[in-house]
Amino acid sequence: MNSRTLTDRATLEAVQFAVASVHDPEYPGVSIAELGLVETVRVEDSEATIDLIPTYGGCPALDFIARDVRNAVMATQAVTACTITWLRAPIWTPDRVTGDVRRFLESEFTVTLRRSDGSLVCPVCGSGTVRDTAPMGPSRCRSLAYCDDCRNPVEVMR
Ligand SMILES: [Zn+2]
Repeated sequence: MNSRTLTDRATLEAVQFAVASVHDPEYPGVSIAELGLVETVRVEDSEATIDLIPTYGGCPALDFIARDVRNAVMATQAVTACTITWLRAPIWTPDRVTGDVRRFLESEFTVTLRRSDGSLVCPVCGSGTVRDTAPMGPSRCRSLAYCDDCRNPVEVMR
């Protein structure tokens, strides 16, 4: 496909679709768009500019995500270049994740997201008696908590 055969709008849509198709390496089945990591997608003069927001600045998955986004965008052959930037602002918050994806994370990965008031709800039993136990979980992007009701460890996405 030659980029000249595509209208500007079709090019942008192809790039947006490619970006949205990239899954978070930590959560197979969940796209980075669903996690609220995609801030802006622009195309100008056959060059794509993608601004992403990290869930957690030190997350080692960021390099993988950027690589996957670049590969997906370039594979569309709709653009000739792709620039990816990890923004420092706005800051990612759990509010950027939609309700459906929250429930998927809870049921598939036993991973929960902090509520806007900072509280935690157990993804296993729904109890609110979840307390933080360790700032570092199984990955640097998740911390560990513990549910006093069902006595299950709970991972918290950050
Ligand atoms: Zn529980």
